[in-house]
Amino acid sequence: MIKVTAIETGKARMKTAQRAGREGRGAIGRKIDIFRDPDWVDPLPILCFLIEHPEGRFLVDTGDTWRNSEPGYLPGWNPFYRQVSIRVAPQEEIGPRLRDMGLDPARDLAAVVLTHFHHDHTGGLDHFPHNRIVGPRENYAVSTGIKGMTMGCLPQRWPIWLKPELVAMDGPPIGPFAGSFPLTSDGRIALAPTPGHVTGHCSVIARDDDVTYFIAGDATYSQDNLRAERTDGVSNDLAAARATLRAIKAFAAERPTVVLPAHDPDSARRLAEKEVFA
Ligand SMILES: [Zn+2]
Repeated sequence: MIKVTAIETGKARMKTAQRAGREGRGAIGRKIDIFRDPDWVDPLPILCFLIEHPEGRFLVDTGDTWRNSEPGYLPGWNPFYRQVSIRVAPQEEIGPRLRDMGLDPARDLAAVVLTHFHHDHTGGLDHFPHNRIVGPRENYAVSTGIKGMTMGCLPQRWPIWLKPELVAMDGPPIGPFAGSFPLTSDGRIALAPTPGHVTGHCSVIARDDDVTYFIAGDATYSQDNLRAERTDGVSNDLAAARATLRAIKAFAAERPTVVLPAHDPDSARRLAEKEVFA
């Protein structure tokens, strides 16, 4: 009834200290650690996920853009952008990827859903000027203006037409998640609050009969980090981030769940094999 496909839209590299923050270190100390860290992780995928449901196709996140590697695209005044390296070829952007799959972005998607407004999730928005775009209201509120620009967002690069449908998680609870925002009338696809990586971050839950897909965005960078309850190095709210990891684990303990973070090199394989979190 529900099918999920992983779509890789280029690669991201980050410091090891960003992928997992040091235990016992506060949020500011962890950011200093990222600047001091000489070690980069191997290139990680930038994943979007396509969910097919009888009511339509839903795309979760839009990846980044090839323009990210063009001089002047990233604001030079923010040194944090030098701690991350994005490599996207033009044909790897989400628009061409969907067309390679025989899909017309304008005609064949019921909605584009954003887990949060970081640049490597919004960089492909230009491909969707005619689509319904859904995002968490609480995260949007901290992603615009100068504040957003200092926090990994590029609102100055968003398409000028962008007017996302901003949603609150005031729908029915799902397992350990106190609220949700249903995307389909049967509630099988829904956003759930997973704050911590950033304020107002959401994950997308897609419940099929035999298995549930937990499209985690950046709520965790990897299933290994989730299992070990390791929070990332960029979170401003470590308590919220850890509570989110525990909630995802509790959710996955209640039902067979395939966990799909946006930057986990193993997400696509787990999805293909329907390997559930255990
Ligand atoms: Zn992010």
